[in-house]
Amino acid sequence: MTSASPHKKSKALKPGSRRPAKELCSECGFCDTHYIHYVKEACAFLNQQVAELEEEAHGRSRNLDNSDDWYFGVNQDMMAARKKEPIEGAQWTGIVSTIACEMLNSGKVEGVVCVQNSEEDRFQPMPVIARTPEEVLAARVNKPTLSPNLSVLEQVEQSGMKRLLVIGVGCQIQALRAVEKKLGLEKLYVLGTPCVDNVTREGLQKFLETTSKSPETVVHYEFMQDFRVHFKHEDGSIEKVPFFGLNTKELKDIFAPSCMSCFDYVNSLADLVVGYMGAPLSYQWMVVRNDTGQEMLELVEDQLETQPVTSQGDRHKAVQQSIPAYEKGVTLPMWAARLMGVVIERIGPKGLEYARFSIDSHFTRNYLYVKRNYPEKLEAHVPEYAKQIVGQYELPE
Ligand SMILES: Cc1cc2nc3c(=O)[nH]c(=O)nc-3n(C[C@H](O)[C@H](O)[C@H](O)COP(=O)(O)OP(=O)(O)OC[C@H]3O[C@@H](n4cnc5c(N)ncnc54)[C@H](O)[C@@H]3O)c2cc1C
Repeated sequence: MTSASPHKKSKALKPGSRRPAKELCSECGFCDTHYIHYVKEACAFLNQQVAELEEEAHGRSRNLDNSDDWYFGVNQDMMAARKKEPIEGAQWTGIVSTIACEMLNSGKVEGVVCVQNSEEDRFQPMPVIARTPEEVLAARVNKPTLSPNLSVLEQVEQSGMKRLLVIGVGCQIQALRAVEKKLGLEKLYVLGTPCVDNVTREGLQKFLETTSKSPETVVHYEFMQDFRVHFKHEDGSIEKVPFFGLNTKELKDIFAPSCMSCFDYVNSLADLVVGYMGAPLSYQWMVVRNDTGQEMLELVEDQLETQPVTSQGDRHKAVQQSIPAYEKGVTLPMWAARLMGVVIERIGPKGLEYARFSIDSHFTRNYLYVKRNYPEKLEAHVPEYAKQIVGQYELPE
């Protein structure tokens, strides 16, 4: 099935009143709008249609014989980049916020869908349509929680805006692409980030309390390419906790079921993706999927320091070993975890190979999760590229 067809309406579903994907709902906000009529076709968890939507958005779907395509999605360029002058308080160097500001400054768009935080809680997402660079900058830094970004879609329609930039993660962008033609826009730009292991606000609290020494002062964190979680605190200090020291048993159930069933880590349907995992430490990773993505990149190129992507190491053994370790909830004592972190940082996968390591680890885990919890969904829900990735490993029943 392709994107929501114009004449096909599902049974009348009242906005805000239902979550048809039930526990698999990623709270992307789509069902808070009247577009909920299209949810059965549009929702990433009810109707997986990545290949069809890639075709519509990029003019082709990914070529499974080309290893970069297979892993990272349709792309025409890829690079490591960082801002020459980073934005203070951004998640990384602020490439996403910079692009969004320049899109407004240049008049290419009238508004930007992005997510600020509530006044009381820095991690509570508050989606907005920003119309000024100041409003975009107020949305910088990740809200590492499920976020209803698409809940503002109705406001876009009401505002009469014709040129729009949407910033979002994979599940949000899949639903957006499915109804793109119904939004009445002359031009839609989509700037995506990769996304994995998202949590509810309560889940985030448990993660912070279990893992950080000072959960209440964390301003942002990231699972970094050096196999450590870096927590940045209010006073600017950085706390590093090795992945292998995480309390897997305690943390196993915090990830949202939607994220445990997601196979769109790399945001396949965005025009341009900005993450970090395919780049060396301190750089961001940019994937240009089509000409619209290239147009956005060109707006900020003179503000970036770039270098080609590289790849080093072989992830396969580490991924295979991590599968039973995760299943058993193995947690190393902190001294051993730190030692392991140092060793793996030296000899482990780097650059694009680190990105493949992360994709493989998450896809094998998620495949087992769907197989065990939603066996009837497995065949249709897992895209071909993900089946091919998972097929490289021996999985337990
Ligand atoms: C939940 C989450 C998980 C991620 N996981 C990975 C990963 O595993 N690997 C990887 O390479 N990259 C990941 N990223 C992307 C990465 O962390 C950075 O967001 C990206 O590199 C951009 O950094 P920046 O400094 O340019 O962003 P900034 O300039 O700080 O801008 C961040 C933008 O993200 C948007 N945003 C914040 N929170 C959310 C949210 N919950 N949902 C949708 N949009 C949001 C804001 O609107 C803002 O515009 C993730 C991002 C998110 C939101």
